Amino acid sequence: MTHTMPALVLNGPGDVQLAEKPVPTPGPGEVVLAVEATTICGTDLRIISGEKTTGVRPGVTLGHEIAGRIASLGDGVEGLTVGRQATVSIVVSCGICRACLAGQEHLCSHCELIGYGLDGGLAPWLCVPARAVSRGNIIPATTEMPATRLALAEPLSCVLNGHRRHGGVNPGETVVIIGGGAIGLLHTQLNVACGAGKVILCEKHADRRERAAAMGAITTGPDHLSEVVAEHTDGYGADLVIVAIGRHELAEESLDLAAPGGRVSWFAGFPKGSTATITPNTVHYQELTVSGGSNARRADVHRAVDMLGRADIDETSIVTHVFGLSHWKEAVEAVRGHAGVKIAIDPRR
Ligand SMILES: [Zn+2]
Ligand SMILES: [Zn+2]
Repeated sequence: MTHTMPALVLNGPGDVQLAEKPVPTPGPGEVVLAVEATTICGTDLRIISGEKTTGVRPGVTLGHEIAGRIASLGDGVEGLTVGRQATVSIVVSCGICRACLAGQEHLCSHCELIGYGLDGGLAPWLCVPARAVSRGNIIPATTEMPATRLALAEPLSCVLNGHRRHGGVNPGETVVIIGGGAIGLLHTQLNVACGAGKVILCEKHADRRERAAAMGAITTGPDHLSEVVAEHTDGYGADLVIVAIGRHELAEESLDLAAPGGRVSWFAGFPKGSTATITPNTVHYQELTVSGGSNARRADVHRAVDMLGRADIDETSIVTHVFGLSHWKEAVEAVRGHAGVKIAIDPRR
């Protein structure tokens, strides 16, 4: 008799249900993780509502921000220890395409993503495929930590990748972050930790502004952002502007907030097919550098796990709710309704 487990499965666009799947046993080269927490992000919402379909496979178990513990090892797996806390780097890349060879595995032309095309962490157990295990996608925690903190390794790794792409932050620089969701708050903590002079966070929800203020940010609502930036920079503009909400009008607005020679990161994904009007001369005359940031490499996940292990990031101000897997609908509604900030699911409950 095969044992079954509940799993949050995508049947098709906009069609998600809690289904029974067999409890996995690891085949050769595979590793089974016991999932202890999986946090939900905006991309999950777009998959669940049917807005996002590319790279997503019907029948897949969702969930890509995964904190687990190594439960069992298939034949031939070496270097991993049963019982260790671990997360997964979700980008399963080919290793041989030009992007991979150039150290940009997250832009691999043949990659599959755990929680999108491959089964993810919204189930009590996750079987990590052999090709991911052999490429080192399972990343053990350096020290034991709360599962809700380890689950932030995936979003934090994306933030670290974006941080690398925009050239980081220099001590004393002024940083503007637009959006105070989990991603904006992770950018806030990172920039404060890196010695930014001022971090100005723009967010419409008062409770999120309060969280950012407690992290050391100057906060404002969207209506006063340009005044606040002008006031804090003597009208010069910000050295770095990070867009952490995918709204097309922010493309132009972010350029206007930057200082001459400044950097602008369009970190958030914009809705599919979005277009924006920008004044290209702002980039030209102000000599701005615009970068993107999408996904992360295994190296970024390693750094994220190390930072989380040292408690450089405080998860308690970001992960506000934990639901059992059977309450997944409430969890999704909480994300949609901006209740709290980051919502976690503990599939053991
Ligand atoms: Zn995510
Ligand atoms: Zn590749």
